Amino acid sequence: SGMGALSLTLNQMRIANGHKSDAMKDALTGLLNRRALLDNPEEIAPTGTAVVMMDLDYFKTINDRFGHDSGDRILMAFADVIHANIRSNDLAARMGGEEFVILLPQTDQATAYVIAEKLRRLVKELQFAGSKPPISVAASFGVAALFPGDDIDSLLHRADQALYEAKRTGRN
Ligand code: GH3
Ligand code: MG
Ligand code: MG
Repeated sequence: SGMGALSLTLNQMRIANGHKSDAMKDALTGLLNRRALLDNPEEIAPTGTAVVMMDLDYFKTINDRFGHDSGDRILMAFADVIHANIRSNDLAARMGGEEFVILLPQTDQATAYVIAEKLRRLVKELQFAGSKPPISVAASFGVAALFPGDDIDSLLHRADQALYEAKRTGRN
């Protein structure tokens, strides 16, 4: 089909989510790691038809002000929010640092946007004790949906460009 590498059967998706080996897992968050997502997209990853790319805002400042351990706790909480709000066949990965991505099979752009907006709101509502006032965070999001002839690289690239635009125009 024209979907090429971006079409995965539901069964393959279940395998990818269910048998996550340590080599595919990000140690801090338990999500897929970058390698799992990019190395072998046909077999392991993706292949969603929409992508949401996410990056925590001003995370360096949060580390500087509250310490690396607090930063780690926030990364884990962010990953939990993602994990709790995606469907079982969606794939979530930590791309590195404070950047995450979700691949959403059979999802159009409007639906992906709704999911991104929900995550944005939930992240903004998180509160972390241990400082007064409690630490709060925000994240920026980039959404891209499949075009005819797309491959995973161009899809991720467009989501990345959208994320950059979100950062540029005010974050959160
Ligand atoms: P922006 O809003 O533009 O995204 O700014 P930012 O500060 O979030 O971005 P920047 O790339 O300048 O900083 C990212 C920070 O994320 C710097 C780095 O120390 C921190 N970081 C990366 N990985 C980890 C991690 O595993 N744990 C913790 N605590 N911090 C991390
Ligand atoms: Mg950031
Ligand atoms: Mg970043």
